Amino acid sequence: MVDLQVLARDVHAELNGEADRGKVADYIPELAKVSLNKFGIAIANLDGVCFTAGDADEAFSIQSISKVFALALALGKVGDALWRRVGREPSGSAFNSIIQLEHEKGIPRNPFINAGAIVVSDIILAGHRPREAIGEILRFVRVAANDETVSIDPAVARSEQEHGFRNAALANYMRAFGNIRNSVELTLGVYFHQCAIEMNCVQLAQAGLFLANGGCDPRSGISVVSRERARRISALMLTCGHYDGSGDFAFKVGFPGKSGVGGGILAVVPGKASIAVWSPGLNAQGNSLLGTKALERIAQRTGWSVFGT
Ligand code: GLU
Repeated sequence: MVDLQVLARDVHAELNGEADRGKVADYIPELAKVSLNKFGIAIANLDGVCFTAGDADEAFSIQSISKVFALALALGKVGDALWRRVGREPSGSAFNSIIQLEHEKGIPRNPFINAGAIVVSDIILAGHRPREAIGEILRFVRVAANDETVSIDPAVARSEQEHGFRNAALANYMRAFGNIRNSVELTLGVYFHQCAIEMNCVQLAQAGLFLANGGCDPRSGISVVSRERARRISALMLTCGHYDGSGDFAFKVGFPGKSGVGGGILAVVPGKASIAVWSPGLNAQGNSLLGTKALERIAQRTGWSVFGT
């Protein structure tokens, strides 16, 4: 049995000195302010015990990792009807690509590329005010994390709102196909606020535990989603969680993960653990460079994989 505390500390120490740490996302100006030197790891086991290293207690913008929680919430609302508006195939394209949308008539490839996540936000918004929809997403994340202090950074939400031209293009384009039902402005408002949720690695690792434990929060025993749904969300994380880097992530790490441009990655190892890593420097596909390396080492040393031990 690998000592998870020693593992977290070792992997952090080995990688922390790396000179190439990638590039901090700067298309959202507020994110560009974060220091490239940050690096945190938290591994939560199914008893909810967290093993940490580095900046695991420092909050960061979870960005696209929020798409996992929003998807779980939207599926709870509309069930499989969601799949009439969003696909389940890897895109092979960048997170904010518009190209496939034309060919596929406004139906995004999957719920984790931006277009798909904007449709998911639109589904959550239906019949609500934006404030209520945002509150619902935040509540879901707080319950999953078992932490009432999780919050939204309004400066990041504003920064995205002011510079989210591509997301506005995606949303307007899908609206033209009838796949955005609310006003584009309101739907984007929900999407930007959900992306602006900030959490630290400990909170994020805790929030992923229900996925690692067949849909049930192992600390409270409460069923957050059904076992089947947890499996399916995890399958999408594996196939689509890292945009056009998803194949490489599956190859190198071998368990489901979802990245965000804030430099975080949430990874779940079914039946074993939930892991959050954070380092804001990104690789060419927009995924955390050190974070991916850290998960690769954790996978190697534990033998954890969904493809057998
Ligand atoms: N809020 C980001 C955007 O829409 C999310 C992208 C990401 O984290 O990959 O551009």
